[in-house]
Amino acid sequence: MYDYIIIGAGSAGCVLANRLSEDPSVKVLLLEAGGPDKQKEIHIPLAFPKLFKSANDWAYYTEPEAALDNRSLYWPRGKVLGGSSSINAMIYIRGHRADYDGWRDLGNPGWGYQDVLPFFKKSENQERGESEFHGASGPLSVSDLRCVNPLSEAFIAAGEEAGYRRNQDFNGEEQEGFGFYQVTQSNGKRHSTAAAFLRPAMSRPNLTVRTDAQVFGIYFEGNRATTVSFQQGAHSAQEHAEREIILCAGAIGSPQLLMLSGVGPAAQLRALEIPVVCELPGVGQNLQDHTCCGVVFECSQPVSLASAESLANLFRYLCFKKGPLTSNVAEAGSFLRTQPDCKFPDLQFHFGAGYFVEHGFQTFDGHAFALGPTLLHPYSRGEIRLRSSNPLDAPFIRANYLSDPRDMQVMLEGVKLSRALAGTKAFAPYRKREMHPGPDAKDDQALRAHVRKFVETLYHPVGTCKMGHDAAAVVDSELRVHGVEGLRVVDASIMPTVVGGNTNAPTIMIAEKAAEMIKNGARKNAADYSLIGAAR
Ligand SMILES: Cc1cc2nc3c(=O)[nH]c(=O)nc-3n(C[C@H](O)[C@H](O)[C@H](O)COP(=O)(O)OP(=O)(O)OC[C@H]3O[C@@H](n4cnc5c(N)ncnc54)[C@H](O)[C@@H]3O)c2cc1C
Repeated sequence: MYDYIIIGAGSAGCVLANRLSEDPSVKVLLLEAGGPDKQKEIHIPLAFPKLFKSANDWAYYTEPEAALDNRSLYWPRGKVLGGSSSINAMIYIRGHRADYDGWRDLGNPGWGYQDVLPFFKKSENQERGESEFHGASGPLSVSDLRCVNPLSEAFIAAGEEAGYRRNQDFNGEEQEGFGFYQVTQSNGKRHSTAAAFLRPAMSRPNLTVRTDAQVFGIYFEGNRATTVSFQQGAHSAQEHAEREIILCAGAIGSPQLLMLSGVGPAAQLRALEIPVVCELPGVGQNLQDHTCCGVVFECSQPVSLASAESLANLFRYLCFKKGPLTSNVAEAGSFLRTQPDCKFPDLQFHFGAGYFVEHGFQTFDGHAFALGPTLLHPYSRGEIRLRSSNPLDAPFIRANYLSDPRDMQVMLEGVKLSRALAGTKAFAPYRKREMHPGPDAKDDQALRAHVRKFVETLYHPVGTCKMGHDAAAVVDSELRVHGVEGLRVVDASIMPTVVGGNTNAPTIMIAEKAAEMIKNGARKNAADYSLIGAAR
């Protein structure tokens, strides 16, 4: 018997497991479909693309995307302790303050920027020290890169040459500008939430962690979620939660599990002969993601990350945790506005000091660099549905990327800006030739064709169990699932709108805030109980 059962040991699940088990009087069970985070490529920062399509990756695919020449896009998602924080690019970005004020103004009290800032700070161990915007005593190491590539320096100089400001801290006063990213690394190694939050809590007697344990569904007594059924190896098992079940299975896994358990769009569930526990039409809807489109140049000097995997660099990394193997590929970036009337940045750049095309699967025998304009606030919305009632079947994912023409317009501006940046004096020592889209792409039509062919996910699907109080909302502002009891969703799926930046730090913040709400709720229940006792 457990007080809390957490489903999914990803970015959010590991934070919750730590925070809830801080109270020795509660018993917590954490269930994770993937295995322990033993593979060495998890811990060596530059190696993360080697985890793609490995045993640590769910390796989803979207349906053919109509606005992208009907391509099915590959979606990596971590299936291992740490979840996607164990396979991600480690960029530490919180988004724009207006993102959170926007969530609050959609009817979610307590989620404005000033409300969430303390939870970002709580989790953070900022290498540069404590400040108005940063914490330095949390479990998650946020560090400057230990080794920066000259091409990344050139990218920032190109931004300055083009008239943008240099930004030393994208998570500080102002998001806009060009600069280096900070990364979730500790001593040159990846600091996933498994490393930062789970590992220090593993020895607590009140926390049980089960890996290779895939949850198949949640059972209800009346409308109260009470029991989790899962498969571990060849064995099926069930566990009972005395207080709450907390879904942290991510933007794909959480809506999938809700629907498998009878919570979701009723007609779809009935069509699959799944008994409906609670009709919630928004489950799996409102899917939003960031898209990124590579603009790639051959480099005239042998300085890119292509030569990073030398024996000397491996030695440097293994002995001193230094050198290019500590790179996260996308070392530098920027946030900018493509139109003067944009109130805040609508475009982010991820600059790759190497030939990073098709998630690194396409190779080039030489040196190159890639500018990755990324759409921050998509208008297009997609959905996740069940394909069948079999929990082992991957769900149906339709992202509907760039289905709204306004999204294509921002991508187009991003491609043009990439060319302008690569054409600056700062890149003159490195620029050899444009490889993609290439010199033949001269007009907007050709550039749009390039976008359709090259756009990929920037790995930030969110929104499929959105927080709110409208008909499409799945959770309330305390992240409790509408219409049932004893069940919350705490992960990237609850974002009503995708934040203007990378999504790992925001997901960790969501879990920090949820942990406090859960603890406060438990305290209030205990106080109410003793008051009732006293009255009797
Ligand atoms: C390749 C890649 C690169 C990225 N780069 C960055 C970056 O540089 N910076 C950044 O901020 N963000 C980045 N992101 C995004 C960021 O990592 C995610 O937004 C974040 O990790 C989401 O956290 P989550 O808790 O919602 O889901 P996850 O971390 O994906 O966790 C979900 C967990 O639930 C488990 N699970 C799912 N279904 C079940 C089930 N049925 N039973 C049991 N367990 C289950 C999964 O195995 C997983 O461990 C990247 C993501 C990827 C994939």
